[in-house]
Amino acid sequence: MLRIAIQKSGRLSDDSLNLIRECGISFINSSLKLKTESTNFPLEILFLRDDDIPGYVADGVADIGIVGQNVLVEEGMQDLTVEALGFSKCRLSLAVPKGDSYSSVEDLNGKNIATSYPNLLQAYLSERGVQANIHTISGSVEIAPSIGLADAICDIVSSGSTLISNGLREVEQVFKSQAVLIANKELSEEKREILEKLLFRINAVQRAQR
Ligand code: ATP
Ligand code: ZN
Repeated sequence: MLRIAIQKSGRLSDDSLNLIRECGISFINSSLKLKTESTNFPLEILFLRDDDIPGYVADGVADIGIVGQNVLVEEGMQDLTVEALGFSKCRLSLAVPKGDSYSSVEDLNGKNIATSYPNLLQAYLSERGVQANIHTISGSVEIAPSIGLADAICDIVSSGSTLISNGLREVEQVFKSQAVLIANKELSEEKREILEKLLFRINAVQRAQR
């Protein structure tokens, strides 16, 4: 039996469950349960917060998982990656109040930037020789400039409408993300074989969608 961790409820959940179903793997999904077992494939599904998934897979609590690259790389666990899945595409971007002048990333020198992704942001700024004060906050990042908490933000964007409705303008793309399948590094032979079967089906689903 292989254990997969997926997001319990959020932007990865539906597509993660759909992918498993499209692989022909049946299970009963009760929104109240934290785990469920497939009725026709040796797979157990755990429902977790997305931020916890890389750690659980690294520790072997789950054998494999589905998570956004943004979370995976932020947590420094990109070496667990097995395969990009092509959904939950989004970008991590820097944004400033729309009335502020901005010409290049150097304008952020000495500024206060609010984000939930301090490591990805720090790497981006360091590469460009920019020194800013990074304030890590766990949510509602986009309101930070309007309450005087920051001069700029670095947050996940997909359509950009959240930025616009908060009076912000996207100025730099820091990181591009999509959902990826990750796996523990020390799977038993038996689990590795189940993973191979699952990957075979995932690849067939992906070919059919192209
Ligand atoms: P949790 O309660 O599990 O911690 P969360 O609030 O951190 O959930 P979500 O907003 O559901 O997370 O986003 C989960 C992942 O989906 C993100 O880490 C990112 O990879 C991706 N994502 C975020 N926003 C979007 C978006 N607008 N469009 C597509 N994918 C997105
Ligand atoms: Zn999360």
